[in-house]
This record gives sequence, C-alpha cells and structure tokens, in this order.
Amino acid sequence: MEHFEDQHGKEHDSALSVNRGVSQPPVVNPHFRRVKRHSLSTDEYMKGILEGNITILSQAITLVESLRSDHYAQAQEIIERCLPHSGRSIRIGITGVPGAGKSTFIEAIGNMVTRLGHKLSVLAIDPSSERSKGSILGDKTRMETLVHNPDVFIRPSPSAGSLGGVARKTRESIILCEAAGFDVIFIETVGVGQSETAVHSMVDLFLLLQIAGAGDELQGIKRGIMEMADMIAINKADSGNERRAEIARSHFANALNLFPMPESGWKPKVYTCSAVEGNGLPEIWNGIEDFLKFTKQIQKNGYFQHNRNRQNKYWMYESINEALRESFYRNERIENEIERYEQLVLANQKSSFVAAKELLTLYFDSIKR
Ligand code: GDP
Repeated sequence: MEHFEDQHGKEHDSALSVNRGVSQPPVVNPHFRRVKRHSLSTDEYMKGILEGNITILSQAITLVESLRSDHYAQAQEIIERCLPHSGRSIRIGITGVPGAGKSTFIEAIGNMVTRLGHKLSVLAIDPSSERSKGSILGDKTRMETLVHNPDVFIRPSPSAGSLGGVARKTRESIILCEAAGFDVIFIETVGVGQSETAVHSMVDLFLLLQIAGAGDELQGIKRGIMEMADMIAINKADSGNERRAEIARSHFANALNLFPMPESGWKPKVYTCSAVEGNGLPEIWNGIEDFLKFTKQIQKNGYFQHNRNRQNKYWMYESINEALRESFYRNERIENEIERYEQLVLANQKSSFVAAKELLTLYFDSIKR
C-alpha cells in the first residue's frame, strides 16, 4: 500500500486523502434568507402562464411538484384553469439507453423544430432520481444551445416520490406548458425500467432511439418497448458507422414486420440519423408529422383522439391510486405502526396478508373519525 501525507503532514495508509477546502461563508448572499419570496396568487399564476411567461410557468410547475399539502390545492386549481387552454400540442416521447444520444438528438431536432416556428417544451421522467436522488437525465450541461433558445422551455424530471407520482406530475406539467403556448412537447426518458410505460401513457407518438451495435441490437431490447414504438431511429449514423447503422435499420424493420399491426393503423418506420451532423433529422420530423396527420384522420380510425381519451381515463385512475397511496402512507397512525409490522413480517411472526389487513383496518378506522 502506498503512503500518503495529509495536509497536516501526517502520514496515513489510504488511497483516499482528502484535501481540506477553502472555508466558505454559510451562504453566498448573507441577506438571502431574509428575503421572503412573495408567493403568487392563482390569478397571478394564470396570467403569467397564459402570457407565456417562462419564469412564472416554472414556478407553477414547482408548485405542482411540491409535496406540501398547502401547495397541492393551489396547484390543482391552476391545472384545472389551464385545462381549457391545453391539449393543442403534439406530445412526443423519446426513449433510449444512456449514451444512445437522446440529449444530443433532442438538442438538434429541437433547434430545427423551433426554426420551423414551433415552441418546444422538453420534460423528462427519470426513474433514477427516485432511489439515488441523483439523476441520469438531469445533468445541467446537457442541451447547451437549447437552453438558450428563447422558444424552448426545458425542465428536468421531478425527483420526489414514486415513479407513478413523478409521472403524474410530468403529465400535469404538460398541461401547464400547453397553456403557456408550447405546441411541441418532448418527454424524454431513459431506457431502463418502467418509465417507458409511464411516458407512453402520456404521449401521441413514441420514438425509440437506438445505436448500431455488432448486429446484436435486438437482444437486450424488450419486446414490449419495441411494441410501444411508433418510430425507431438508429442514431450515430456518421463517421464510418453508416453501414452498420443501415444494417441495424433493416434488422429492426424486419423485426417490426413480425409484429401485428398496431392499433394506430400505422406501421412503425425505422430511420437512421446523426444527431451530431444532422443527417436524417428532417426525414424523422416529416415522419412524425405524417404519423400525426394519419392518426388524426377521423375517417381512418381517429386513433389520435381515441388514444388521448383513453390516456385521460388511465390518468383518472392513476390519480386516484396515487392519492389513496399518499393518504395511506402519510397517515400518522400508519407512519407510527408500519415499521413494527414490517419487523413482525420479517421475523415470520405475522403473515403479510394479516399485517396488511390490520394496517388497512387501522387506516380506515382513523379516517372514519
Ligand atoms: P444520452 O445519454 O442518450 O442523452 O446520450 P448523449 O446525447 O449524452 O450522447 C452520448 C454520447 O454520444 C455523447 O458523447 C455524444 O456526443 C455522442 N453522440 C450523440 N449523438 C451522436 C451522433 O449522432 N453521432 C456521434 N458520432 N456521436 C453522438
């Protein structure tokens, strides 16, 4: 083992020597805490949102994401008042494993979309934030040019609560963004776990971003995710990688041929693109517009509206489930008892069913009063 000296000149056996940093004042601005932020009235929020004021939109989303019960009522009122002004956007879900190029892709296609006259909002659902409190998607250095584009509003994933809770908040944020005049909404998620299903339940079109491997692209990708995709793009088709991307494209196209026709009546297409060089992006955007035009045709099957209606129904149940869960786990008696029950179940002194039943009885008794 190597020997290191720490800043006091003391020698110790560790590869991890920590240098003491320069001491800092407790807060940058010592008066900061004394300035109490004026909290806006619901009318002020509404006025700001409908005027497309991004600062106020952002504050309203913070309110929606807040777990404080006094924020909840006001947030719900804002959402309700935004509803008549919402719905007039296209909602696009984008997924892909870390490193597939999602943020590079969103940045490139996002700038292109705003040049076409759209206002774009980029939201995210990041399942990693639930456990680690960090995030895969939340890196501030991502999408640098998009951040400075005045027609773009970017919001990282809500971080607190269960995936269901995070997804519900994102879904509510969509409504606020639409009321603020954003007519294209991207919802990004990382291709691990359950978050694709959550995103799929709130978008009109789902795009799967892939990269070409050594012919084994199809392994490791869950059939369910392929089935959800309305469109697949093989990214990084540049720098000599074009042929491999083309091979991957045909593999995916062949695999999709084996699936039954989706309910939308639209056979998913597979594209190649380079988010860095911009090749293939206009074709992908045209493909998105074609899909939406097709699914909006009432004389076909009216899938677009049907899908949104069904999503509304789904979210009604999700909201109920979420509210019940919150009410249960935040109930004081449950909070006091649940750990003891957990230990009894772990020690095999109570069956899980009996424990659940007793806890539920405790809960129902406590809300009756
Ligand atoms: P994410 O994790 O899916 O958001 O992926 P990123 O957008 O952060 O990209 C991961 C890495 O792939 C970065 O180093 C990008 O520069 C690179 N990358 C993204 N898109 C392309 C592309 O079209 N071509 C090439 N050659 N590299 C790309």
